Amino acid sequence: MEKVVIIGSGPAGWAAAIYTARANLHPLVIEGDPLSEKNRQQGTIPLGQLSLTTEVENYPGFPAMHTRELLKSALPVEEQPYWVVANKEQPNHGINGPELMALMRQQARNFGTRVISKDVVKVDFSKKPYTLTTHDGETIQAHTVIIATGARANYLGLPSEDRFKNRGVSACAVCDGALPRFRNKPLVVIGGGDSAVEEATYLTKFASKVYLVIRRDVLRASKIMQQRAFDNPKIEIIKNTELDEVLGDDQNGVTALRFRNNKTGEKFVLEASGLFLAIGHTPNVGFLEGQVKLTPSGYIQWTTLARTYTSVEGVFAAGDVADDYYRQAISAAGTGCMAALDAERYLSHHGLA
Ligand code: NDP
Repeated sequence: MEKVVIIGSGPAGWAAAIYTARANLHPLVIEGDPLSEKNRQQGTIPLGQLSLTTEVENYPGFPAMHTRELLKSALPVEEQPYWVVANKEQPNHGINGPELMALMRQQARNFGTRVISKDVVKVDFSKKPYTLTTHDGETIQAHTVIIATGARANYLGLPSEDRFKNRGVSACAVCDGALPRFRNKPLVVIGGGDSAVEEATYLTKFASKVYLVIRRDVLRASKIMQQRAFDNPKIEIIKNTELDEVLGDDQNGVTALRFRNNKTGEKFVLEASGLFLAIGHTPNVGFLEGQVKLTPSGYIQWTTLARTYTSVEGVFAAGDVADDYYRQAISAAGTGCMAALDAERYLSHHGLA
């Protein structure tokens, strides 16, 4: 019988683990299945969305510094990034997403957090203690559950987009951008938020040119990110434009994209070997099968102001799975801490701590 099970392994999950471990609640983190093809395709791999990003410049505590020494001393050798093991310098390096997540995971383990690398596929919140079932059929019983499963990238839903997934269509530049098919070729990123600008900027390392295609005439991205796009000579912004169809063939994958200007109706084709979607996210709540109340946009509903309570007593939610507004690593970690304290108080109140 577990006192606290944390489902999910992004900043919310690890913050919850650190706090509950330090409160002697011996948390179990179910971090996700690293070998699942579905997880790879959806971008729901262990360590969450940050493991799919590059530099993290807005998580407090990591200015440009000698990160190598920090990573080397904090992580077991087999979990150190290749450049640390190879003793290479990264000048002015702060921290990147995978490194930050590896540090959080290690910090949680240092206080005795247990971790299993499986997916939760089913829950039963109809009776206490609650039961969780993992993809290999293991069942786990818990007095409290913290759901921190995050959100995943959206696709447009065009049949041609689906047809060319993994053959030129991707929702993760960091995962796929370095593939040979994208080298020295024009690429397209769709979306106007911070993610889109980040992906476009990253892709300029490999592409001959990156078109950033937005459906309105303004970017949604923060000012500093917008400026980065404007200043990059390899990025061209195409406004008021939506994707009509992905063009290509079985042999070459994506070869071009047909667009429509939504002001004039004019259609045009751009030659490109890759399409990267950066158009927002969907919360990972499928395994809950409606047992926890959701908001109209499908995120877990926090039922009490300034608490991480859900509609089920003893089940708490933290991070992007319940937050469609802030969606930052630091705010996810913050609500992870809140969920841990809420779980601890619940257990104490019920004499279960
Ligand atoms: P956002 O919701 O901020 O942006 C989504 C973008 O996709 C918008 O430009 C939106 O267009 C566009 N879009 C949505 N649906 C469609 C569609 N069907 N067709 C065409 N375009 C579409 O999501 P992000 O993932 O960019 O960012 C999420 C959060 O994460 C934000 O809070 C962001 O600040 C943060 N973030 C921060 C980073 C950083 O600071 N380094 C990096 C990445 C993310 P429209 O604007 O017209 O609605």
